[in-house]
Amino acid sequence: MARHLSSVCKLCRREGAKLFFKADRCYTDKCAFERRSYAPGQHGQARGKVSEYALQLREKQKIKRIYGLMEAQFKNTFKAAERAKGITGETLVAYLERRLDNAVYRLGFAGCRKEARMMVTHGGFKVNGRSVDIPSYRLKSADVIEVTDKWKKKPKLAENAKSAERRGIPEWFTLDKGLMKGIVARLPRREDVTVPMNEQLVVELYSK
Ligand code: SF4
Repeated sequence: MARHLSSVCKLCRREGAKLFFKADRCYTDKCAFERRSYAPGQHGQARGKVSEYALQLREKQKIKRIYGLMEAQFKNTFKAAERAKGITGETLVAYLERRLDNAVYRLGFAGCRKEARMMVTHGGFKVNGRSVDIPSYRLKSADVIEVTDKWKKKPKLAENAKSAERRGIPEWFTLDKGLMKGIVARLPRREDVTVPMNEQLVVELYSK
């Protein structure tokens, strides 16, 4: 997860969208973006002409930040998407969605992707019965993601499951809440990602 030392809420305001870095708070009226939906800083409310390059750059930064990637990691994911068959932008989004840390968040085991990444690196999950502590692990169809026995007892897991009810579980997973186990029912499609993003702008940026 990329390190950002000032308030992460400023990133939402900078990118002009709710990026959901703070679990429950993002759904309350304490959300900084709900209160001030303009960029931070002295000139945050000024509206100047925005160049095509600036638009592409901002969209790349937004998508990168949503998934908590550093520039090099993001670029490598893009290159992998470019090499794969299909539409590069859509493949990029699918690859980002298929990260294990994202799946842990999407399945409701973690309150946000940052927490999901921490849980994965600390050995909280198994994939197909084997411990996996690599947040970027790319899931395949029919993979089984399971909370380890040690982590199942942690109260935080139950809290996270409860608060995840409001965001719902994506259709590409099936979840057994009792066993704390999720299965990749099918690979994610572009329409499964509901946060507004324009991945085509990233393709255009990296094509320059
Ligand atoms: Fe973004 Fe609002 Fe969540 Fe802060 S509380 S991270 S501004 S969505």
